[in-house]
Amino acid sequence: MRLDVLVAVRFNEDMLAGAVDAAVFAAAGQMLTDGSVGRIGPAGGGATAVVRIGPGRGVDVWVGVIDGGLSAECECDAGPDELCTHAVAVTLGALRSGFTWSSGATPPSGSVDPQVRELIEVADRLSRRRLTRLVATHAATDRRLRARLLVEAGQLGPLAESEADQLRRSLGSIAAEATTGRWQMHDVVTAGEAIIRELEIITVRPASVPALLLVENAAVLCDGLAAHLFDDWEHFDGVPEEMGERVRRVHLHLCEQLRPDPRELAERLDRIISAAEAVSCLDAPHDYLTYRA
Ligand SMILES: [Zn+2]
Repeated sequence: MRLDVLVAVRFNEDMLAGAVDAAVFAAAGQMLTDGSVGRIGPAGGGATAVVRIGPGRGVDVWVGVIDGGLSAECECDAGPDELCTHAVAVTLGALRSGFTWSSGATPPSGSVDPQVRELIEVADRLSRRRLTRLVATHAATDRRLRARLLVEAGQLGPLAESEADQLRRSLGSIAAEATTGRWQMHDVVTAGEAIIRELEIITVRPASVPALLLVENAAVLCDGLAAHLFDDWEHFDGVPEEMGERVRRVHLHLCEQLRPDPRELAERLDRIISAAEAVSCLDAPHDYLTYRA
């Protein structure tokens, strides 16, 4: 669904109320009051959120300003010429939280990879039952997809302190075992891969401070593994760099979501960087310009 209603980039609640049906506006306000509107985040210059429409069911909503008009895309059955209640609710919630609207927003449908768009069309032809089975079958063997599915269904939240502790221990042993006894360089690569895979699964979940600290701890482990690979650069040229970049991407993603205290982050980063035997994967000052003090 997509609809354009003319509003200025700097618009307010009154203007929104004037542009939509009074009953729709009231229902949207009620959705906000009863907590049906999930966390509102930025996307493509507009605002996005999941709006609950029933027990365990939600619709993805995006609203943004395009060519001076308010545009919306919602997964619900609303007709293309109707600004649905969900879109009004997300707009209202964003306005109340002081959201900054970009004048040239890109709706989700406009930013989808062409290959993904093509596959969406194929998936649209399947029955819900077949599609569900397909997703479930893949999620059973792909832990990242599994986590994503559970998060989307609201069954998996942010990484908790206790889970982080447990993971910290198991990642620690993966790293330690890689260089204990009779080990070979490829064990180091395998261990690094295993650690990074765990971190990448965590990024699928909503961000949390325990997750951020766990990633920083894992960065130290990866720095230790990378030091061995740097020593054998003739065989592993580029490998530790690539590993480090993946760890940093995860860390930056969490920083972006959590906006940690800049001074505390700077202190932790300095500690990690100076502890590294070779070079730390988090030693990329340019990437952290907006986050650290
Ligand atoms: Zn809707």
